Amino acid sequence: MLSTGICTSSGALANVHERAFATLLGSALGDALGATVEFCTPSEIRDQYGVLRKIVGGGWLKLKAGEVTDDTEMSLCIARSLATVGWSPADIAERFAAWFKNWPLDVGNTCRRGIARYINHGTLAGPFNEGDAGNGAAMRVAPVALATLADSSLLERWAVEQGHITHNHPLSDAACVLIGRLIHLGCTGQPLERLQREAEVVVARFPTFRFSPFRGLSTAYVVDTMQTVLHYFLSTHSFEECLVATVNQGGDADTTGAIVGAIAGAYYGLAQLPRHWVRKLAPALVSEIGDLSGHLVERSPLGQGQPVVI
Ligand code: MN
Ligand code: MN
Repeated sequence: MLSTGICTSSGALANVHERAFATLLGSALGDALGATVEFCTPSEIRDQYGVLRKIVGGGWLKLKAGEVTDDTEMSLCIARSLATVGWSPADIAERFAAWFKNWPLDVGNTCRRGIARYINHGTLAGPFNEGDAGNGAAMRVAPVALATLADSSLLERWAVEQGHITHNHPLSDAACVLIGRLIHLGCTGQPLERLQREAEVVVARFPTFRFSPFRGLSTAYVVDTMQTVLHYFLSTHSFEECLVATVNQGGDADTTGAIVGAIAGAYYGLAQLPRHWVRKLAPALVSEIGDLSGHLVERSPLGQGQPVVI
């Protein structure tokens, strides 16, 4: 363990704030970009778009260009909760329930079942379920990563607890924690090799996550989702290239896009997010994401002065 003292200066903390903003904004961009081709195969995407590089809306949800889906909306529920009351799974579940009752455009089956269970029984976690290894908990973990910066064990606890509101499966848990760790490392300016090592440690513990050689699957099964995310994050060289490559794999493209967008946003930083994409998002969404990411960093252990331990 090594204490880097990375945030001893205000300049370094400003950099973390920018990367945190880019984390949540990157996730929304991946959602908006990928939703166009959700459930398409790579060859269907090629036939229709060549390479999808622009945020154009449409898709099976018939979105307006720049509209986001459940991935971003559930992340916002968590971010708003954390920024308002601090850590409270009950408050997060309440926000999921309010969102769900408001007829969202889309909600995954496992999320629907978990929220219904909370509404009917008030329980904040379901029992272990073999079918809970979807990506619905992993897709919304980014705000938890920002709120726990500099504290890995806090991240592990909160990432899993937010996950269990709808998904109780060790592979979902492992994915939530890994995504959170990669965001921690990206936000604190660690080199790519360090992020790669983190992924490799998790692959060693859960060999099913092995992403090399890449099998090209990008379903909503969290294993396929993580293979796609890790493969494209580690084999591309810019935020834009990473997201374009990821969503053109199709499948659960808005969700692979949202997850890789958070990790790549943290790693590459705000200046790398394509302006022509950001302009497609609703200005109110961009400004709320900016406010929330700032609150989360300020309330995080790092924002409270705790040194970063890598
Ligand atoms: Mn979605
Ligand atoms: Mn999806």
